[in-house]
Order: sequence, then structure tokens, then C-alpha cells
Amino acid sequence: MTGGWDLRAPCRGRDGFTVREDDWKTGADLKRLCGPQLATCGPCPFHAVCIATVKPAQAKFDGIAGGRLWCNGEVIDALDDVSDEELTEPKLRASCGTEAGAKDHIRHGERPCPSCRQAAREMTARRKTEKAKEPKQLQLEFATS
Ligand code: SF4
Ligand SMILES: [Zn+2]
Repeated sequence: MTGGWDLRAPCRGRDGFTVREDDWKTGADLKRLCGPQLATCGPCPFHAVCIATVKPAQAKFDGIAGGRLWCNGEVIDALDDVSDEELTEPKLRASCGTEAGAKDHIRHGERPCPSCRQAAREMTARRKTEKAKEPKQLQLEFATS
């Protein structure tokens, strides 16, 4: 069915990647129950195909897929080094074109759309420029005091 990638995945035969409906109520419960298994996805080369197969956002999935922990189809935790490239195609929303839009995509398990990526890049660049100014201001304050 899946071309055998799942047979070679590090999670094969391991428990704790999903939870029984009765065992949890909140995202914190999911983090407690599934969180420890997240590290298993670290060396797994199948993040993208795992997400494309499980379709966590669409399926309102609860548990671990593709190096992320999902709660009701939204990402609530992830490995540090996961890439947005692994996520599915974005849905366009009213928030698109803003940094918040980019976060909305990520929460819904999607790769940010081009206009959200652009907005996020601009915001990062602006933050960097602002940060670069900080030491100078400090120096000035010292120089004048
Ligand atoms: S990404 Fe994680 S859940 Fe998906 S196949 Fe790999 S180890 Fe399993
Ligand atoms: Zn967008």
C-alpha cells in the first residue's frame, strides 16, 4: 500500500505514536503520552511521505507523524530541525500574507504559502535590523553618561 517505506521507518513496531480516545483530553495529555516518542522521528527519512500518508490536518489526527506531535490535526510540538518542506500544500486564508498567516499554516500542518513565506522573511529581516541597532544604542548611552 505504501511502497514499504513504513516497514523501514524507525517507529515500526513501536507503541505510543497514537493514543486511545479514552486516554487523553488535552494537548498536555498528548505531550505527556506521545511526546517521549517524538525523538524516534529524528533520524527517520520519511517525514514528508509520513505526513502525506497520514494527512494529519485533514484527518484531525492526534499523535505523532512526520516529526511532529498533532492534536486535532494541528501541530502542538515538533522536533527542532523539521523542515516546512515536509508539510502538505497550504490552504489560503484571510491571514495569508502576514507572519501570523505563516504560523496558521504551520499549525495546520501545511507549508506556508509564498506570500506568507515572504511576510515571515521580511519580519525576520526587520527583527535582525532592529537587533543590529541595539548595541549601538547601548554604546551611545554609555558614551554620553
Ligand atoms: S516520521 Fe516518525 S512517525 Fe513517520 S514514519 Fe518516520 S518515525 Fe514513523
Ligand atoms: Zn498563506
